[in-house]
Amino acid sequence: MSDTFTAAVVEEFGPTLNIREADPPEPGRNQALVRNLASGICHTDVHAAEGDWPVKPEPPFIPGHEGVGEVVKLGPGEHTVEVGDIVGNVWLWSACGVCEKCRTGWETLCDEAEYGGYTVDGSFGEYMLVDTRYCARIPEGSDPIEVAPILCAGVTVYKGLKVSETRPGQFMVISGIGGLGHIAVQYAVAMGMRVIAVDISEEKLALAKKHGAEYTVNAKEADPAEAVTEYTKGGAHGVLVTAVHPQAFGQAIGMARKGGTIVFNGLPPGEFPAPIFDIVFKGLTIRGSLVGTRQDLEEALDFYARGMIKPTVEEVKLDDVNEVFEGLIKGGIEGRRVIRY
Ligand code: NAD
Ligand code: ZN
Ligand code: ZN
Repeated sequence: MSDTFTAAVVEEFGPTLNIREADPPEPGRNQALVRNLASGICHTDVHAAEGDWPVKPEPPFIPGHEGVGEVVKLGPGEHTVEVGDIVGNVWLWSACGVCEKCRTGWETLCDEAEYGGYTVDGSFGEYMLVDTRYCARIPEGSDPIEVAPILCAGVTVYKGLKVSETRPGQFMVISGIGGLGHIAVQYAVAMGMRVIAVDISEEKLALAKKHGAEYTVNAKEADPAEAVTEYTKGGAHGVLVTAVHPQAFGQAIGMARKGGTIVFNGLPPGEFPAPIFDIVFKGLTIRGSLVGTRQDLEEALDFYARGMIKPTVEEVKLDDVNEVFEGLIKGGIEGRRVIRY
């Protein structure tokens, strides 16, 4: 390995990353150094760079949490991966492993968790570190570019659909058909749900149809609550919100059927009006859902490995990351853009 490597760095909060040389990290205890092959670009990376959320990362840092690469060096400790293995970094970069949350299958909520590309440098560079206890193990035969979006977008929506407790044959609305949403449509179809897609762009809705949505609503042209209620004769059993505008969160309440469950995956800064009467009288459940556990990740990757999920991806270079950020902010990116190293 040369003395330095190229990375896209957030020097200060704002949408523009600085592409420059960085010093190679040395793997510590339980860690591995990974030479990256690919990294997806998630809208969370935009929120991270902009400092959008109340809990902020500390610049300078390297974003990216859908990285796929080869283990080139192991730090001290016992490892369950070897040099040469293909692994991935994820948002849940590590957790404490011993707290109540970790012990009860909720490691995603661990107070001591580290976040890939947020509290720990991520995959927008030729090299990264992973914690080998928490990294993704990429199934043999995976295309690095195509599998990358499963590491965040895929596992997040897969878990979101699971906690919606929506069953096969029931209606599931996917609101927001971006990187997360277009994969959510595919998992929901694979789980036997009847999928309705909502977005504000016709191209995104066409992508949802291609991936198996049976009905689509353009929220710019029609009231999604009315359209979904009419189509489903009473509202959807589940609503998964992956949109990046707070308006979609309020609209979810109107799209849900009595007794339905709404799951929030999207994380735009802001608030939305929540009508108390509707929530109580419809007996709604509203849940937030953050990425997934290592077990959820294994399951989400297994769906991919069995050919049931095929992310729509377009390859870019590390140098293109600022252009991709602009596209994400404007809402013009179809599926996922993935960096090839
Ligand atoms: P993206 O930019 O690829 O997709 C967002 C989609 O929302 C776009 O298709 C856009 O057209 C659509 N949209 C915008 N306004 C809308 C509206 N009013 N109604 C319906 N759709 C609308 O982003 P992404 O990478 O899919 O990420 C989506 C969100 O999910 C981000 O806020 C991201 O931070 C968050 N996220 C959360 C988790 C989690 O664990 N909860 C994990 C990953 C990403
Ligand atoms: Zn993400
Ligand atoms: Zn913990």
